[in-house]
Amino acid sequence: MTEKLPEYKIFALKYATREARRADHFIGGDPHAGPMPMDYFTWVIVGPDRVFLVDTGFTAETAARRKRRFLRCPIESLRLLDIDPDAVTDVILTHLHYDHVGNFHKLPHARFHLQERELAFATGRYVRYPYFGHGFEEEDIVGVVRLNFKRRLELYEGDMERAPGLTLHFAPGHTAGLQVVRVHTQRGHVVLASDASHYYENIRTNRPFIAVVDISAVLDAFRKIERLADSSHHIIPGHDPLVMQQYPALSPALQDIVVRLDVDPAE
Ligand SMILES: [Zn+2]
Repeated sequence: MTEKLPEYKIFALKYATREARRADHFIGGDPHAGPMPMDYFTWVIVGPDRVFLVDTGFTAETAARRKRRFLRCPIESLRLLDIDPDAVTDVILTHLHYDHVGNFHKLPHARFHLQERELAFATGRYVRYPYFGHGFEEEDIVGVVRLNFKRRLELYEGDMERAPGLTLHFAPGHTAGLQVVRVHTQRGHVVLASDASHYYENIRTNRPFIAVVDISAVLDAFRKIERLADSSHHIIPGHDPLVMQQYPALSPALQDIVVRLDVDPAE
């Protein structure tokens, strides 16, 4: 007896962008000089009776400090999807880098789902080294520790079914405790890879992104994501501007702001 899995809708919301070069995104650089901009997203998973937000983006203040082009507050922008931020109950944090966990304080009624290994690393001995510490905002990490004291943090050790058809999968390498999200949709199982693969090219050419804690683990994560996704067209990278081009906008007014990931991409 197999019970039918719910079919979720998934939206990618673009909230910031920056100019960058190809060589910025691959360990060992890239033989081709040329631009390769980076977009910043949060993702929204809408089920029959529940909404999950995946990551919370960064704030305007952090954008200014880090010289990112901030387009819109990712939390206020939930209203574009008719979602009241006060009503968000569940936030999946793929990892604790500044561009994924800022704004947690703007979701007063949410609990947060995170791998324990990620929190251990972000509060551990390596953050004193700029290479590892740079990706975290001190106030974000302190804030997540406080969420734990307030019983608003669910910490996992490995893969976990969060809801029928919605599972979390440990996929470290970029960070020590990164998790990806597998979602059942009308087109099959889609994997939100987040920064397990910043761009399509990282996973498709087996060239990890420059920020990494364990290169071999990144490669293992690539293979795990491929096993979890129904096809390569079911893998959604964390920062690739192509996502906005390949998937349809939710409406003409939301062109280049919100796209649907639960429908097939254009060729
Ligand atoms: Zn990121």
